[in-house]
Amino acid sequence: MNAYVQKVYEGLKARNAHETEFLQAAYEILTSISPVFDKHPEFEKAGLLDRFVEPERVILFRVPWIDDKGQVQVNRGYRVQFNSAIGPYKGGLRLHPSVNLSVIKFLGFEQILKNSLTGLPIGGGKGGSDFDPKGKSDNEVMRFCQSFMTELYRYIGKDVDVPAGDIGVGAREIGFLYGQYKRITGLYEGVLTGKGLTYGGSLARKEATGFGLCYFLNAMLKRNGLSAEGKRVVISGSGNVAIYACQKITQMGGKVVAMSDSNGYIVDENGINLDVVKQIKEVERGRIREYADRVPGSVYTEGCRQIWTVKCDIALPCATQNELDLEGAKALVANGVIAVAEGANMPSTLDATSYLQENKVLFGPAKAANAGGVATSALEMSQNSQRLSWSFDEVDSKLKGIMENIFASVDSAAREYGSEGNYVVGANIAGFLKVSNAMMAQGAV
Ligand code: NDP
Repeated sequence: MNAYVQKVYEGLKARNAHETEFLQAAYEILTSISPVFDKHPEFEKAGLLDRFVEPERVILFRVPWIDDKGQVQVNRGYRVQFNSAIGPYKGGLRLHPSVNLSVIKFLGFEQILKNSLTGLPIGGGKGGSDFDPKGKSDNEVMRFCQSFMTELYRYIGKDVDVPAGDIGVGAREIGFLYGQYKRITGLYEGVLTGKGLTYGGSLARKEATGFGLCYFLNAMLKRNGLSAEGKRVVISGSGNVAIYACQKITQMGGKVVAMSDSNGYIVDENGINLDVVKQIKEVERGRIREYADRVPGSVYTEGCRQIWTVKCDIALPCATQNELDLEGAKALVANGVIAVAEGANMPSTLDATSYLQENKVLFGPAKAANAGGVATSALEMSQNSQRLSWSFDEVDSKLKGIMENIFASVDSAAREYGSEGNYVVGANIAGFLKVSNAMMAQGAV
């Protein structure tokens, strides 16, 4: 590692010793972009990296709400506005009990580079709460969202910071958050993305992350003389990203044989029946184990981590961070996997990523492979600003073009910096170059 980069990383460790997820993401990014600092000594003089690793602003707040029994509940809300060098902050809101400052900082840090890779003018941010929507009534979720927005509204705006969905935040939550923002501010503006189609949402936003993942994967396979046709695919998760990845890869000729949720996974050798998954997950908000009761011949196994032992050619981790560890990577390699593309954010641990790369598995890192969601969110912002709505095909074809461009720039950055085929290095460098350039131009701010 370049001496300056190493020094900044040591400082980061000392100041944020307890933030394990953030340090994990920072280590991966800093290791990759180190060669850029060898080429650009002026970055050190400008303290560029010292500034880059520190969020511009962290907002932490109390979220009190009243449950259906009339009891007061208190959660913690977060918004990390990490970097606005190339545009207003943009990044999702996550509602999950595992949310803490370290998780939100790692997601926000990754988001800076991801947003840069899309080629669109959006900075990096992330937010959320340790509230668990699972098992809550619609009214409880609404009261929580209204309370959350009552604090957050003063820090966001269509040209300031535009949050979106993430784990636990789908159309229902975005609707409640948007309603409260409008009620407090009186503004009908594109302050959130992932909105419903009747009030400013974009066609194809729901599908965008999963579809985009498959467009990226396809470009990566093609570059290496391969295709998805006839391949066995395993997808972890059964939420928004997983469902639409399953739909697109099936259209591309792949056969998805396994999906999961946080309790366990199902294997269906006939190919997953996505209508059943959508009914269970999108309509009934149920558990994946119910699939086995409805589809003869499919098998449910309790515990989600073993999903990587299911034999496949292509693995798409689409659930959560650190879900694919070294043991999982070894099982995939032993079963002859040829490609892994990350739909979730940082689903692979550092040693799992290295193991897959050492074993010549094509590896598409999250910040490039799952950038389709935020790219389409930026398209939603454009439509809101123009007071227009584009057709599904128009948005989908722009998404496809963006994902192919992302792959091309990742591929060429990897080559230019002497790491051909290493798309982790390529994605970090390609994303960083644009942001660093903008930060240099704007002075020490
Ligand atoms: P959803 O809430 O729709 O689905 C999440 C899925 O992952 C569910 O199947 C959930 O299972 C599972 N999951 C969540 N936490 C855990 C855990 N700790 N262990 C095992 N499984 C878990 O979220 P999304 O599909 O939107 O997001 C999935 C991933 O994709 C996240 O990493 C997110 O940051 C990333 N992402 C999402 C984008 C989007 O547009 N939605 C854009 C870019 C990235 P269960 O129901 O049991 O909790």
